[in-house]
Amino acid sequence: MANIILLGAPGGGKGSQAVRLVKQLNIPQISTGDMLREARAMGTEMGLLAARFMDSGELVPDEVVIGIVKDRLAMEDCANGFILDGFPRTIPQAQALDSVLGELGIALDHVIEIAVPDGQIVPRITGRRSCPQCKRPYHVQFLKPREGNLCDDCGVELIQRSDDTEEAVTVRLASYHKKTAPLVDYYKKAGKLRVVDGVGEMEEISARIFTILA
Ligand code: ADP
Ligand code: ZN
Repeated sequence: MANIILLGAPGGGKGSQAVRLVKQLNIPQISTGDMLREARAMGTEMGLLAARFMDSGELVPDEVVIGIVKDRLAMEDCANGFILDGFPRTIPQAQALDSVLGELGIALDHVIEIAVPDGQIVPRITGRRSCPQCKRPYHVQFLKPREGNLCDDCGVELIQRSDDTEEAVTVRLASYHKKTAPLVDYYKKAGKLRVVDGVGEMEEISARIFTILA
């Protein structure tokens, strides 16, 4: 049983590490970014509303993401633990999460901040690619696929996210510092915060995270 929040700048590796934790711990990844992209792909009203914010790099309004996470945490597969990836991102979201978890009688185990210096964020994000089929992450420089621009597992063409442009990244980083970084203090005060150095090989960073969970 592990209830985990992954905290950190956009492009800092939360998603990649979450995928590894899912395999290892057999608990679901709850990525608000992924859920918003799905809603958008399905063309729901909420998805279309979110799309405008996402493409410009702005945060989607709190009440929208809080609603999504509330519904998701109430689902059966979260009973044995979960990995929150990309939520909470603001103090009001963290407060809402505290009250939802309180209602469900669930305690948070770890808030893991994956720390990456700002200077590394832009190259990380703009070179980022992923498999549209299995969602496996790649990078044109740091995590190349074996062949061309194809997924090692599925053989399909990799894609780039619409908000992984340099313009949107600048906005995303600014909103990270203004709205999300205060959560570091919030969870430090709650005695939950653990910081992991997010610079290095993916395996090394996973190992650092597993040391905390062990
Ligand atoms: P990254 O962490 O690389 O920025 P995500 O996939 O987590 O990528 O998020 C992509 C976008 O989705 C964000 O820029 C924001 O617009 C929206 N989003 C995701 N999670 C949240 C959240 N908790 N609160 C507000 N907006 C969110
Ligand atoms: Zn794939």
